[in-house]
Amino acid sequence: NARPRRTPIRAREENHVNRNTEPIGATVLGYPRIGRDREIKRALEDHWAGSIGADDLASAGAAERARTWRRLAELGLDSVPSGTFSLYDHVLDTTTLVGAVPPRYAELGLDDLGTYFAMARGTAGVAPLELTKWFDTNYHYLVPEIGPATRFRLAGTKPLDEYREALALGITTRPALLGPVSLLLLSKAADGSPDGFRPLDRLDDLVAVYALLLTTLATAGVAWVQLDEPAFVADRTPAELDALRIAYERLGALAERPAILVASYFGHLGEALPVLASSPVEAIGLDLVAGDVDALTGDVPGLAGKTVVAGVVDGRNVWRTDLGAALATLSAVADVAGDVAVSTSCSLLHVPYDLDAEAALSPRLRSWLAFADQKVAEVVALATALRAGQSAVSGALDEAAAALADRAGAPGVVDDGVRSRLAGLPADAGRRGPYAERASAQRDRLGLPPLPTTTIGSFPQTDEVRGARAAFRAGRLGADEYTARMRAEIERVIRLQEKLGLDVLVHGEPERNDMVQYFAENLAGFVTTGNGWVQSYGSRCVRPPILYGDVSRPAPITVDWARYAQSLTDRPVKGMLTGPVTILAWSFVRDDQPLADTARQVALAIRDETVDLEAAGIGIVQVDEPALRELLPLRSSGQDAYLEWSVGAFGLATSGVTDATQIHTHLCYSEFGEVVAAIDGLDADVTSIEAARSHMEIVPDVAASGFARGIGPGMYDIHSPRVPDTDEVEALLRRALAAIPAARLWVNPDCGLKTRGYAEVEPALAALVAAAHRLR
Ligand code: GLN
Ligand code: ZN
Repeated sequence: NARPRRTPIRAREENHVNRNTEPIGATVLGYPRIGRDREIKRALEDHWAGSIGADDLASAGAAERARTWRRLAELGLDSVPSGTFSLYDHVLDTTTLVGAVPPRYAELGLDDLGTYFAMARGTAGVAPLELTKWFDTNYHYLVPEIGPATRFRLAGTKPLDEYREALALGITTRPALLGPVSLLLLSKAADGSPDGFRPLDRLDDLVAVYALLLTTLATAGVAWVQLDEPAFVADRTPAELDALRIAYERLGALAERPAILVASYFGHLGEALPVLASSPVEAIGLDLVAGDVDALTGDVPGLAGKTVVAGVVDGRNVWRTDLGAALATLSAVADVAGDVAVSTSCSLLHVPYDLDAEAALSPRLRSWLAFADQKVAEVVALATALRAGQSAVSGALDEAAAALADRAGAPGVVDDGVRSRLAGLPADAGRRGPYAERASAQRDRLGLPPLPTTTIGSFPQTDEVRGARAAFRAGRLGADEYTARMRAEIERVIRLQEKLGLDVLVHGEPERNDMVQYFAENLAGFVTTGNGWVQSYGSRCVRPPILYGDVSRPAPITVDWARYAQSLTDRPVKGMLTGPVTILAWSFVRDDQPLADTARQVALAIRDETVDLEAAGIGIVQVDEPALRELLPLRSSGQDAYLEWSVGAFGLATSGVTDATQIHTHLCYSEFGEVVAAIDGLDADVTSIEAARSHMEIVPDVAASGFARGIGPGMYDIHSPRVPDTDEVEALLRRALAAIPAARLWVNPDCGLKTRGYAEVEPALAALVAAAHRLR
């Protein structure tokens, strides 16, 4: 490999960082790990089902790691990360590495792998760690539980093992793992911790473990280590910034250690940048896609002595990089940093592996896109341009510019019809009439009892239902036969709900593979991929659609199914739609216009659907927004503007109907803190929320926020196979009634039922209905 190398970075005299440390050059912060053909997903599920042993699982992991390192080296990276592979979650990997296994798992007496999966998935009688969103992405991590008694120790060898594994293949890597301060900031206080205890109180003990790890890695010859500190792209207190300073002063002062790259992503470091720039670390990774290069151009003391690992290739979206613009950013960085390395804005975990696996996408659209491997090639091209001048990569630069220009002018990207419709909407198009008038019109129309019972939309997706969808898709089942099978399923679900005594029925969503993909497949402006899987958590993957152009609804989507369901029963059937914010949050979204503008287009398409549902005789329409909180900006400075446009988009989607049509929404998460006001702003007639796991704690908060419309706090947790009994639901209902008058309280589960089986769903819904009847 004759790639020219630059001179090694300046060795520091005051400590013993390896003097032969190579510059980072072209790198990425991480790479997908579920397997190009989802080999790891399958190996995990086979292992959990007992059909393959730990050895086979381990070899599947080793094979995936080897493929990844070889691929990254072959694509031309100068610095390849290791340690980014995980059998479930990288936060869990770090938690176990530092010995922070809560006693309830340690006491099970399982081997390391068994303990690891018990923390991830739970085991007989022991609940798993809490799963929560990784910043503003759709990846979920397992929340560490840290208490005063957590005994930190270097309890594993994963970083060293994987470094050596790669070395044996001839590839020198940079071990990467979550840094100590972010690990603590992402943790929650263990149950039983004294009041006022925060995981960050344990910083000293945890840093001591990282110090030992770094020393061990240095002894093994590791030149660079990557410690991720993404928690610092959110607002942080002076004490938290101080923790960052203390941690890296200590790690930097170690007598024996690798060079340290502290990586950040998903935003700008703000006040944490000067802290890191004046610390002894050698390199700082910055997200220059979500963050801003302008933040660097002011005088940041110390930055001139650091390598800036410039994340100029978007690690979380699928668009081809504007290489010319990226080079301009890199040169601005070069003016202020000691050295510039080129990288992705974050780990490539959030995009699919390879565009070459998408043979069904049109060549034109494909030419606008870059998945993980294409992004690695972009990073390499940019690093080459830095090193050898733009002429060395003029072909790549020209191609990127041509693709960008082609995309801007391509049919469907700009649809004048959509734009003029939006521009022509009256200023009050997003608002409905006063709630009191709506409520009375809806009472007259629907005549529901107090404490009305309903569900969130989906019913269990049986093998028959999935099989029929797959056969239809593959062309093995004709359209008429497919419709007949779906109608039979809808009828079965309607009859079951009547038998159970529910008041507001649903059609059960059997025709939907996924609540976002289904709409994307039926709206103009989207394409869906064949193999574009992205890890959501553990073995769970999603295939986000790609929103590339102006969005419109060529024809009604759900109306026939809803009309059919309503024709079967005298009880009201609730139409079921996905809201604009959730459609955006779970898609790869165009990057050539503000998200708020795209949201309005999607909202207008959903509005068309609500109006058509109403015209088809549907009296209740639910517009789900489970991802409303997910897109909330990480820093408070952006949050008001976000809430304004997201709430506005929901309003646009739901305000085309008359007062007598009841609009429901569903929000499924329990941390409402920042969005409680938005729940009110959505102005839905009825809002269902997750509440069972927190025993209705959210309900008084919502009531106190001034919310005065219908509310359905989830009465049982559908994420668990546990079936509640009538007494339990009644007790929860009584708690809710303490805060919400009976006239506005609805009775429903926490979320859709599609991942459960009928054996659980039937008795659970029966208990729910019985409890409502008792209290009536
Ligand atoms: N209506 C959807 C369902 O029941 C809502 C799913 C969700 O909130 N994630 O499946
Ligand atoms: Zn939900």
